[in-house]
Amino acid sequence: MDRVIEVHDITKIYQMGEVEVRALRGVSFHIDRGEVVAIMGPSGSGKSTLMNMLGCLDRPTAGEYYLDGELVSSLTDDQLAVIRNKKVGFVFQSFNLLSRISALANVELPLRYAGVTGNRRDLARDALEAVGLGDRVTHRPTELSGGQQQRVAVARAIINNPSIIMADEPTGNLDSKVGQEIMDLLLLLNKERGTTLIIVTHDPTIAAQTGRVIRLLDGSLEKEGSGKQARKNSKAWKEAEAKVANKSTRKARAK
Ligand code: ADP
Ligand code: MG
Repeated sequence: MDRVIEVHDITKIYQMGEVEVRALRGVSFHIDRGEVVAIMGPSGSGKSTLMNMLGCLDRPTAGEYYLDGELVSSLTDDQLAVIRNKKVGFVFQSFNLLSRISALANVELPLRYAGVTGNRRDLARDALEAVGLGDRVTHRPTELSGGQQQRVAVARAIINNPSIIMADEPTGNLDSKVGQEIMDLLLLLNKERGTTLIIVTHDPTIAAQTGRVIRLLDGSLEKEGSGKQARKNSKAWKEAEAKVANKSTRKARAK
């Protein structure tokens, strides 16, 4: 099958002054095109960090990430932004819409960033129709219900025809009935367009509707050897340790 995502041994270490936070510790997996995957795990286990890597918002400290067959883990920020704009649609827990502009203008934004000229308006209108909001295009977010706002966010996420939709707790701010309607919508888009769907969720009812659950615990995949020894033997782990050690030495010398 066609692999849309391949991560090899990705490690993320945040440097907070003198303190290192090991957020991901050698994570490897792949996701096939058209899959629906849930990412679960306790608070602080690395879910958002992983989403940021997969969504090209950030780079791993070590390890490789291939998106659509392209090695993206070593791109510059600008290159990463281009890939992100083309290939990733984001849906957030708190919708993240601009409140002063219409639903239509919100949905159009990614097209503006991508430099699309011409029929932006029509494309945005089509996307709003696809999420069942064809009759709300001129409304501002404050004039819409939570469920409707999340539909606008979904329309914004699909406007560039992305390879993947990344949804971070998309139903977290909605009651269970409306949350299920959003889940139904995401699953419908996956079915109709074949868009790969990755959903971070705490809700077992949502996770049960996906094809697979990736579970994180303390920065490692729960099932695959998350023991300390396995981490220490990992190539990426050693690389990451070496990088951090180098930086600390340089800093110490500078002082
Ligand atoms: P989750 O989304 O599963 O709650 P996160 O990925 O947000 O977990 O966080 C994983 C770990 O990395 C936590 O210990 C968190 O405090 C830390 N962390 C996350 N983002 C940053 C950051 N920007 N700088 C420093 N530490 C961070
Ligand atoms: Mg999080």
